[in-house]
Amino acid sequence: MRIGVLSLQGAFTEHIAMLRGLGVEGTEVRLPGQLKELDGLIIPGGESTAIGKLAVSYGLLEPLRQMGRKGWPIWGTCAGMIMLASDIGGDQPLLGLMDISVQRNAFGRQVDSFEMDLSVPALASIEPESQLVAFRAVFIRAPLIQRVGSGVEILARLDDDAIVAAREGNLLATAFHPELGSDVRFHKYFLAMVRER
Ligand code: GLN
Repeated sequence: MRIGVLSLQGAFTEHIAMLRGLGVEGTEVRLPGQLKELDGLIIPGGESTAIGKLAVSYGLLEPLRQMGRKGWPIWGTCAGMIMLASDIGGDQPLLGLMDISVQRNAFGRQVDSFEMDLSVPALASIEPESQLVAFRAVFIRAPLIQRVGSGVEILARLDDDAIVAAREGNLLATAFHPELGSDVRFHKYFLAMVRER
């Protein structure tokens, strides 16, 4: 299995390291020609405006959109989640593949960055014995999911009900950074989505 990691800007090396730890080759992707022969793609956290602009100048936006529409697995973390959203209430280049509305920088300055224990029942499909173990999630100037369409499965919420992880078929979105930390269950969950396909 070969997983691409969009490497225009942001935390791509951390994703590649985590994939390597799971025995999976992660390939840096910067050009459309590199998408061939990949089984899925991770869009990392970083700055979504920068990632979007670079994706436009490298000619990546349309090929990625088409592949995502055809069922190719894509996982967006933080800024990557913003790239997947169909609506962010503003104007910047997006893939727009997922039926979710996202608010960028949804947490005030005071809490620019924080960690939170999340209950993620879907991770039990990966490691049933870890079902009761919370996922320690790292949020960095994080976005929130404000609305999900009817085809979207909510995977995790904060205590105040704000949605921070969701799946729509071949598309996975997390507002936080599972590549920072040591819990590999979200990476395993995505790899299972890739294998299912
Ligand atoms: N605040 C960033 C944005 O709007 C996302 C932050 C992140 O990816 N850690 O793109």
